[in-house]
Amino acid sequence: MYKIWIDEAGRWPWLWPVVACSLTFNKNNPLDAKFLWELNDSKKLTEKKREELFTKLIQFSTWENPQVYFWVWVVDNYLIDEINIKQANKEAMRRSLVELLRKIDKKKIEGVLVDGNDNYVFEELDKKPLYIVGGDGKVTEIWAASIIAKVLRDKLIWTYALLYPNMWLENHKWYGTKKHIEYLKDASSITGIHRISYKPVKKISEQKPKLLLHICCWPDASVPIMDLKKEYEVICFWYDPNIQPKKEYNKRLKALKKVCEIEWVEWIEWEYDVANFFHEIKWLEHTPERGEKCVKCYDMRLKRTALEAEKLWIKHWTSTLLTSPHKDIQKMFELGDKYSLGKKLEFLKIAFRKNNGFLRSVEYCKTHDIYRQNYCGCIYSDTFDGKNFSW
Ligand code: SF4
Repeated sequence: MYKIWIDEAGRWPWLWPVVACSLTFNKNNPLDAKFLWELNDSKKLTEKKREELFTKLIQFSTWENPQVYFWVWVVDNYLIDEINIKQANKEAMRRSLVELLRKIDKKKIEGVLVDGNDNYVFEELDKKPLYIVGGDGKVTEIWAASIIAKVLRDKLIWTYALLYPNMWLENHKWYGTKKHIEYLKDASSITGIHRISYKPVKKISEQKPKLLLHICCWPDASVPIMDLKKEYEVICFWYDPNIQPKKEYNKRLKALKKVCEIEWVEWIEWEYDVANFFHEIKWLEHTPERGEKCVKCYDMRLKRTALEAEKLWIKHWTSTLLTSPHKDIQKMFELGDKYSLGKKLEFLKIAFRKNNGFLRSVEYCKTHDIYRQNYCGCIYSDTFDGKNFSW
């Protein structure tokens, strides 16, 4: 006669599957007392000990006259999100039970016992199972079922974790710990193994992903901000040591703050390392606009923005440099890709100048009385007239 015991692993974590194991000991070929003595509640065992007992249970189930019969069923996060965890847990238990019933004589089943108090009814059984609250703390067979379910669940998750090395899985063990919440910054950090129906994950999934937007000047920034705000939480990044003289820089920075306040977006102001700019364009000062000097200038600013995005864990980034019809947009696409490569960053290649972008920005500046400059930025810009120049 067989008593079947069922337990699950992975009901509470915010990630991937729930795993159920249905198990029975073969009374005609009993396990030795030494092994039974080693078994314990899986939560009280070390990972190493669980693995060791799991290996033995597998061995005992594969001999010609097995001492243990079991079956495991896995229900992934997609089904959990579709039917809810309680039903998904029932489905995992039901399917593991159905498969186990194929291995043993159904007429010899004394009863089915389940850890917990879910009171599921399985139509495959004539009688409702018996539910034992806290069964995982006191019943040997439940310990065995729990060890199998937990070890298999862990193996599955560790395999998937290879795909997400920056999730610090070893620290939060898939629960909503402080580390996990720290990882889940916005919708873009949610992975394919998260259970998005879980309230805290759902809340994060509804947040717009962050985007770091390098700002070159306000006339060029107005349209990108208005358009990108529809899909992203935009954070502006001001790094423009190419602007001279300093009083012009300050004027443009003041305009940045004004538009950020109008548009209700955060901004980050980076240092005015003008010496670095002159160093970068050395010997190229008199090349024409859109030429080599300007490529160095884009490069310096995009590189710095990518570093900041990486530091802040903001996947999406781009630059308002893509607005001006006077800039080499292809070159900037190349640089955006170059600085995203291998860093889990994504440079958005959007030609903001399209759909009347330039005209809309002119209109915006008029409406909000925003300062519009009449030269690109540096003292070598084609239209910089040098009148009344002073630092
Ligand atoms: S002209 Fe404009 S883009 Fe070119 S180097 Fe000067 S500030 Fe930079």
